[in-house]
Amino acid sequence: MYNTKQVLLPGFLNTFVSSITYSVQYPSIMSLDPTKMLAAKVKSMEESATIRMAQKSRDLASKGVHVISLSLGEPDFDTPDFIKEAAYTALKKGNTKYTPVPGTLALRNAICEKFRLENNLLFEPSQIVVSNGAKQSIANICMATLNEGDEAIILAPYWVSYFEIVKFAGGIPVVVSAGIDEDFKPTAAQIKAAITPKTKLLIFSSPCNPTGSVFTHKELEDIAKVITENGNILVVSDEIYEYINFTGNHVSIGTFDGMAGLTATVNGFSKGFSMTGWRLGYMAGPKWLADACNKVQGQITSGAASFSQEAAAIALQADRSEALAMREAFHRRRDLLISLMSDIPGLKINRPQGAFYLFPDVSEYYGTGNGKLTIQNADDFAEAMLTEAHVGLVSGSAFGNDQCVRLSYAASDDDLREAVRRLARCLAQFKKL
Ligand code: PMP
Ligand code: GLU
Repeated sequence: MYNTKQVLLPGFLNTFVSSITYSVQYPSIMSLDPTKMLAAKVKSMEESATIRMAQKSRDLASKGVHVISLSLGEPDFDTPDFIKEAAYTALKKGNTKYTPVPGTLALRNAICEKFRLENNLLFEPSQIVVSNGAKQSIANICMATLNEGDEAIILAPYWVSYFEIVKFAGGIPVVVSAGIDEDFKPTAAQIKAAITPKTKLLIFSSPCNPTGSVFTHKELEDIAKVITENGNILVVSDEIYEYINFTGNHVSIGTFDGMAGLTATVNGFSKGFSMTGWRLGYMAGPKWLADACNKVQGQITSGAASFSQEAAAIALQADRSEALAMREAFHRRRDLLISLMSDIPGLKINRPQGAFYLFPDVSEYYGTGNGKLTIQNADDFAEAMLTEAHVGLVSGSAFGNDQCVRLSYAASDDDLREAVRRLARCLAQFKKL
């Protein structure tokens, strides 16, 4: 059973002879029925909306459209040179082999020192697991702890992947929400009310993706009280935006009385050091949890890239001048974007204290149309802005809030100005139906 196919000459030969096709015989292909083959867990999994919207923006751009993508949460700065130099050195000297699954001892020591000096948290290297990104650290924790039917409270608006990771691990996401009038911060009382005998995890980020909200010392202390009173819940505190905090004061929930044994602190290099492509994150927590994450990771991916780890240890040991310079740039852009967006009628905007996102309430535009498209929800809004204004945003529905959309201001001033000009022009065409 063979198929004959017309094939274009390989690219390098085309340089000499253009557009010549020749016939090749390939074995025929049998196919499986994906509806039968795919696991129910995967069928019910949502694709990451941040990644989907970024890809949609790229697809439109590849057709020649000038798209301004404010969809992906990725710093627009390059990785600082001294970190890149450290990776070149690591590669040149042959640091290209497997590392221990939870990370090199050098990096885990540097992480312990970072926690001690910057966060007032004390860990041994055996309590640290370095992963291929904070995303994997969160997945490790969920897989290590959740049994079928266990509940994980997720504070909303939440980062897209928490919800799907919990589901994939067999858990039930229990969403506790706050709106823009509460600066998107659910209270300790709301969390307490959501706890049941099945609650195993509480997951949140501060500074928060997608809202940029930062929980205050008091708010975290109140949450810590609820957790210590209960005594059966592990807090997963995602602190990946630690350095992008405009209040100047990052508080780790693990520092409150009783919390060290009840907290997994997640962090990474993607945001503060602008190292998204290096794929490096880490968790620190009670030893039993680190051991379990180590076991999970050891069967799935092994240790993170060796040279990334060597460079990351050097990044952690250096001063924070580059991270602080990036923070200042984000701070200035936040103010710029808020002042530009305030001129667009019908948007409700708060003043986030960290990360690099704005999460405006766009619900005033629901029930409007421009003659071509109608907006009934946040998905429609994001879609309309991409196709009509060529500005990529992410619908709030992906983050558990259908009133808002997320804009990342990890972009140049010129792009931010042009994006807002386009949004304003486009939204002016949308009239009540
Ligand atoms: N947590 C939050 C809140 C994030 O925004 C992201 C996105 N980068 C991650 C975790 C995952 O980061 P990493 O690139 O380290 O996997
Ligand atoms: N965390 C980033 C975001 O929220 C990157 C994309 C992703 O990992 O989902 O856009």
